[in-house]
Amino acid sequence: MAKLKLYFGLRTMDLFKINELLQELYQKYQPCFEGQKADYIPELSKANQDDFALSVMSVDGESFNAGATQIPFTLQSLSKPFVYGLALELQGRDKILSKVGVEPTGEAFNSIIELEKNSHRPYNPMINSGAIAICSLIEGEKSNDRLHKVINLFERLCRKSLQIHEEVYCSEKATAHRNRAIAYLLANFNIIEEKSEASIEDLLDLYFKQCSILVNSTDLASMAATLANGGIQPNSKELIYSKEYNRDILSLMFTCGMYDTAGEWAYSVGLPAKSGVSGGIIAVVPGKLGIAAYSPLIDGHGHSIRAERAIKEFVSRLNLNIFS
Ligand code: GLU
Repeated sequence: MAKLKLYFGLRTMDLFKINELLQELYQKYQPCFEGQKADYIPELSKANQDDFALSVMSVDGESFNAGATQIPFTLQSLSKPFVYGLALELQGRDKILSKVGVEPTGEAFNSIIELEKNSHRPYNPMINSGAIAICSLIEGEKSNDRLHKVINLFERLCRKSLQIHEEVYCSEKATAHRNRAIAYLLANFNIIEEKSEASIEDLLDLYFKQCSILVNSTDLASMAATLANGGIQPNSKELIYSKEYNRDILSLMFTCGMYDTAGEWAYSVGLPAKSGVSGGIIAVVPGKLGIAAYSPLIDGHGHSIRAERAIKEFVSRLNLNIFS
C-alpha cells in the first residue's frame, strides 16, 4: 500500500527498469571524454577523468547505482540549495528574502554583476553572491559552530559522517579573488553583517568549507531524494526541511539551479536541478526520485557533460518531466 502511494505515477515496471537503465547509460556515456576539468580551483583539476557515476534513490529509500558511485568529490555549488534550506529553517522566509532574491540572472555562477539594482540583494541563492550571503545567515557563536551546523545538515541528508577535502578548501581559499570581491561588495551594501577583514575572511572560510565537503554519487542521490520526499530523509524519516521551505528550495532549483542554462533545462528536462563545477548534477522528481550523476569533465557552463547527457536521457526514457 505504502509503495503504491509513494510510487504514484511511476509504473512498477519503470522501477524494475531503473538498475538496467543506469547500467546502459553508464556504458553509453562512459567513453565520452568531451569537456575539461574545472581548474580555476587548481586542486579540482586533479580529478580522474575516467570517473563516472549514476545514482538514484526513490522516496522510500531504495537505492540504484551504476559506475564509480563510491568515488568522493566535493559538493561545490551542489551545497547551495541545501544550505539555503537550512537558512530558511533557522531564520524564516521573510528574513531570508530581505537579503537574497529569487530571480534567475541568466549569468554565470560567479558573475560579479549579480546584485539587484535598488535593494542590492543578490539575485538568488544559487549564484555565488547569494550563497555567500546565505552563509552569513547561518548564525553561531564561533565560526566552528556555524560550520558544525552546515556539516551536520549534510550528515543528516547523507546519513553518514562527512569530511572536508582540505586540499580543495585551501586551493579555493588561495585563489578566490572573485568571491572575496563579491563578499566585500555584499558588506558594502549591508547585505552581510560581517564588516572587518577578519570576519569577512571567516565567512568566506565557511563558504569554501561548505563547497569542499566530500560526498559520492550515492550520497548526492540521498540528498536529492530528501527533496523529492517533501523534506523527509527517505531512510531515517527525519524531517530535514518543512514542506513549505522544501518547496522554496525546489522552485529555486527549477528557475536558477543550472547556471546560465537554467531556462534550457527547465524547457528540455522539466525538473528542479543543480549543478556543481566539481562535476556533480542532481535532479529531483517530486514525490518519486532523487537522481544524481558525477563526472569531472565539464562544459563551458560548468555542467558535467556525461552527467548532463545521462540524466537527460534517464528523464526522457522514463518520462519524468513534471509537465509531461
Ligand atoms: N566553490 C565554487 C566557487 O565559488 C563553487 C562553484 C560552482 O560549483 O558552481 O567558485
